[in-house]
Amino acid sequence: MRFIADIEIHSKYARAVSPQMVLENLASWADKKGIQVLGTGDFTHPLWFKDIKEKLEPAEPGLYRLKNSDYKMRFVLSGEISCVYTKNGRGRRVHHLVYAPSIEVAEKINTQLGWLGNLKSDGRPIIGLDSKELLKILLNASPESVLIPAHVWTPWFGVFGSKSGFNSLGECFDELEPQIFAIETGLSSDPPMNWRIPFLDKKAIMSSSDSHSLHRLGREASIFNTEMSYRGIMDALKTRGPEFEGTIEFFPEEGKYHYDGHLACGVRLTPEETKKNKGLCPSCGRPVTVGVAARIDELAALDRPAGFRPGWAKTYHSFVPFDEIIAEALGVGVQSRAVWKEYEAAVKNLGSELNLMINVSESDLKSNLPPAVAEGVLRMRQGKVRIEPGYDGEYGKIKIFDDAERESLASQKSLF
Ligand SMILES: [Zn+2]
Ligand SMILES: [Zn+2]
Repeated sequence: MRFIADIEIHSKYARAVSPQMVLENLASWADKKGIQVLGTGDFTHPLWFKDIKEKLEPAEPGLYRLKNSDYKMRFVLSGEISCVYTKNGRGRRVHHLVYAPSIEVAEKINTQLGWLGNLKSDGRPIIGLDSKELLKILLNASPESVLIPAHVWTPWFGVFGSKSGFNSLGECFDELEPQIFAIETGLSSDPPMNWRIPFLDKKAIMSSSDSHSLHRLGREASIFNTEMSYRGIMDALKTRGPEFEGTIEFFPEEGKYHYDGHLACGVRLTPEETKKNKGLCPSCGRPVTVGVAARIDELAALDRPAGFRPGWAKTYHSFVPFDEIIAEALGVGVQSRAVWKEYEAAVKNLGSELNLMINVSESDLKSNLPPAVAEGVLRMRQGKVRIEPGYDGEYGKIKIFDDAERESLASQKSLF
């Protein structure tokens, strides 16, 4: 079966997350978005885990559904741990996604981690624990537990981040490195950027949304064509065969750490400019936050320039969230009522958001959507978008239309 999975999200119990992120809303939004398998997020948090145990029931092996509901989506037990420790003489802060094949295994993991840190403090707990020790705890609880390094290039918390990361997975996990079979790209990098890194050649390059609010679910996700089960998903990532079809990705420039710079100083630098400035901010003179593009350049193989494509490359769809496309097409803010009116109508007529963004034919888009919105989706599919790249924690800004184009598309509508 072909399905879309978004297996990193956060619950209302994690810092800076919308109070709307509760199981009932997640289930209904997953269906609306076209996500068949959603991570629960935060299973290490005692209150969230209590919700999970009370409100979900087993469905396919290793997957759960909301009790007393007819939602089609399934949950997989997921969490994220922030490991803070020192290794090889440097302070490390690394985020890892963790997965459990059952409630019982999640319970074991929670018990172990509860001895080491305060799981109540945050849905994504900070624990003074070496990444390798975390992996050992997971595998001890069950050989089917999985650790996937999260948003691996993010400067502050990625396993390869410029601020406190490592130069390879081997440096982080030592002899346990082969147990790591997948990495998450994060919003600021896409598969082509990761293809340049030789030590990722045998790893699945997966994506998920890291969503903190309902409307952002599925902004990045992974596409599978396999058995709907925990093992189906994890085996597909492990083998990287056709069962793992590919990913849905932000344009990496949209991410918060694509380029370098200082947000406070309003200084955004390309990797070349950072080099020219010897890593310092031309405004305040302090070291800039080195983003993902520069960090990948640093670790990429010399014979893998930008554009290098290995034989095993998976397909990926570059994505602009549909609400942002509508906002661009209408020339209004993304939060405005008009955007959500169009969104609901489109999803009702054309199926889920991800279906209409990826699969629906050009003619069906044109006959069901306002002209500018249909044109926006088509331009996104062709990669015809302009983006001011994100830097130092600020999202990139997408431009699909200029004002004149928007007006001419709007007048097409009145001709109808
Ligand atoms: Zn994280
Ligand atoms: Zn500065």
